[in-house]
Amino acid sequence: MQTAKSKQVCLGIETTADDFGVGILDFEGNVLSNVSNAFIPDRGGIHPREAARHHAVVAGDVISLAIQKANIWTEDIAVVAFSQGPGLGPCLRTGATAARALAAYCEVPLVGVNHCIAHIEIGKLTTEAQDPVTLYVSGGNTMVSAFDAGRYRVFGETLDIAVGNCLDVFAREVGLRSDGVPLGAVVEQLSRRGKEFLDLPYSVKGMDLSFSGLLTAAISLYRKGTVDLENLCYSLQETVFSMLAEVTERALAHVEKREVLLTGGVAANKRLQEMLKAVADEHDSLFCGVPKEYALDNGAMIAWTGILKFKEGLTTPLAESFVRLKWRLDDEDARWAARNVG
Ligand code: AMP
Ligand code: MG
Repeated sequence: MQTAKSKQVCLGIETTADDFGVGILDFEGNVLSNVSNAFIPDRGGIHPREAARHHAVVAGDVISLAIQKANIWTEDIAVVAFSQGPGLGPCLRTGATAARALAAYCEVPLVGVNHCIAHIEIGKLTTEAQDPVTLYVSGGNTMVSAFDAGRYRVFGETLDIAVGNCLDVFAREVGLRSDGVPLGAVVEQLSRRGKEFLDLPYSVKGMDLSFSGLLTAAISLYRKGTVDLENLCYSLQETVFSMLAEVTERALAHVEKREVLLTGGVAANKRLQEMLKAVADEHDSLFCGVPKEYALDNGAMIAWTGILKFKEGLTTPLAESFVRLKWRLDDEDARWAARNVG
């Protein structure tokens, strides 16, 4: 039996990759808690099954901590949202299993959320952006998108690896250590001391981007032993961020929106923020950078998008709650977002 609810909240679970994140928001968009436990590999990148095992181990504790921090009872949970895709299969499945179990326990509906859309929606909640062109740059995704005719549309995207992955692999290959700091941030620190620009392949194809050739070229330059690592980090950043700025600028000019939203883990980079702000200024648009805790993968963004969908009557029956590893954001009817569009 469901009891009368004193508060109405959504609990959102994010597990597309290395993070097991849980966020709790009320229906007005107040973040009551947002906690995360990240899988840290001993070496190399994220192994999906190892990350999933980590998620299964920490799930119960992270959910309990989020509930405790939000100062709610499980009876207050009116809906459970989860990242249904895109992402790493084993990680997504672990999150979906936890979400199904919790929704069944609380006897409330389940809402499957597109992870990329969630990054945009939390950006709209936590910044002034209402109807932006979004540059979403992370370890697993790189895309420029905007809302048009009932859906979020992709205007440009990577044809191979994500920009965060490019920076991470480069950093590992040249022997940089993270010591808890993201590798992209280590590249950023070194790049500040770079003075000389080294030519690297600049690869924008129409509105799309390619980073793998550029990555190989940067690594082989380093292996020749003739270049300075600070100059190489500087050149790598300048090249990849110029590519991102070019595509974002073109999308902005085409769709005639007045806001540029920057989100995803790479959004923490000061140089990228500076370049995107310059693009926004040039087009009389507002630059909106998502605060770091909401730019990284997090449960709050899943909970908030869950609320937006739930209010629109869009819930996910159990039989349709299977995970969608390659779920594109333009596959989703995002009718709720039409409300903000002028
Ligand atoms: P996410 O996939 O959204 O969790 O973001 C993780 C990615 O963000 C990784 O590729 C990190 O290296 C990258 N990242 C984090 N901080 C920075 C930074 N300051 N500059 C560039 N990349 C960063
Ligand atoms: Mg992550």
